[in-house]
Amino acid sequence: MKTFKSILEFQKHFNTDEKCRLLLEEQRWGSTPACCFCGSTHVSRIKGGKRFQCNEKECRKQFSVTVGTIYENTKIPLVKWFYAMYILSNHSKGISSLQLASWLDVTQKTAWFLNHRIRQMLTEKAPELLSGIVEVDETFVGGKEKNKHKNKKKVSSGTGGKTIVFGAVQRNGKVNTQIIPDTNLETLVNAVYENVEDGSVMVSDEQGSYKALKRNYQHASVNHSAKEYVRGAAHTNTIEGFWSLLKRQIVGIHHSVSPKHLQRYCNEASYRYNAKLLTQDVRFINALSNCEGTLKYSQLIKK
Ligand SMILES: [Zn+2]
Repeated sequence: MKTFKSILEFQKHFNTDEKCRLLLEEQRWGSTPACCFCGSTHVSRIKGGKRFQCNEKECRKQFSVTVGTIYENTKIPLVKWFYAMYILSNHSKGISSLQLASWLDVTQKTAWFLNHRIRQMLTEKAPELLSGIVEVDETFVGGKEKNKHKNKKKVSSGTGGKTIVFGAVQRNGKVNTQIIPDTNLETLVNAVYENVEDGSVMVSDEQGSYKALKRNYQHASVNHSAKEYVRGAAHTNTIEGFWSLLKRQIVGIHHSVSPKHLQRYCNEASYRYNAKLLTQDVRFINALSNCEGTLKYSQLIKK
């Protein structure tokens, strides 16, 4: 894709729905369009534009590139989707529906819908394993901040209604988060295996569980209770910084979040944190590549 120096350049380039659609087609199919219903590549473009005809005898269905994506069945022009996506994937804190409505010249309800859908597209579907120096930690959402470290000790006997989030952050790299049911040895060890590459240097606080991983990872710990927050490279400041970002987003914007939705908010906060490392164009393209959603393409083509 062409790269853009500014939002003005971006707007100038994607100024018609057709241009937007061509990018979506290229991204979804490359140079070989495939039927959204049967998967066959025996298809032809219907004269005049956006729709294709499947030429398989049993199928014969018509489709366009938006079938099975979040753009399907919305009346919002692709030009506005693209603009909203460019803004939202690049804005560090997200923007209100009211603001988006006035920028795009759409109703507030439409802007709300866009905001909501795009937020889902920003979720990283398959986070990579972290490596190098990786800080690991857990936090409790829903309880009082000041009791965090005290709570950590009590938690093996129940979380007191709080939700536990495991987090791992690579120094100068990305963060991964995962909701976990408890802080038992097995749970924490599994969370590390799922998020951190073998052989990494792992830094945690004094919680004993991570030490069990010595065979796979080099381990350094920080003793919080002794106020030993920083000991050379062995500190957990990065993950602590992420926790406070996460909590500010949850408390500041949404006041409280039910456990059921918490992973989505964690994903959103991680996306923003991780996107710092990307260029504006890449952020936009990443969001765009997650457009298969309302109806999964794989479900559609399943026989
Ligand atoms: Zn077909």
